[in-house]
Amino acid sequence: MGPDDSNRSNPYASPPTVFPDRPAVAQVVEERGSGPGFCPKCGSDKHKTPSFTLWGGAIGQRIISHVKCQKCGTGFNSKTGESNLRNIILYQAVIFAIVFGIYFLIAVSR
Ligand SMILES: [Zn+2]
Repeated sequence: MGPDDSNRSNPYASPPTVFPDRPAVAQVVEERGSGPGFCPKCGSDKHKTPSFTLWGGAIGQRIISHVKCQKCGTGFNSKTGESNLRNIILYQAVIFAIVFGIYFLIAVSR
């Protein structure tokens, strides 16, 4: 025999591949979804209501179901799964109208 004998104990040969039994739980990966409750950008369903927003203060986001994706940080409407930009603008318009109305009433009553 000759150098062929070394085939039997080749240190560079990869060991037989063994797939350890994975628990069924591991199969439940984050599935990309769309629609209510899913982030419109990355499809994650993990989100939470921010405690404070620049546009809505401490309550605005709760009124219009605005949540923030915990994966990519996108803000969206948890009820529709779509961007909440229009609702935010509407919310601000309403707040502006109320504030303006109060100022107006104060100005008139003087
Ligand atoms: Zn996202």
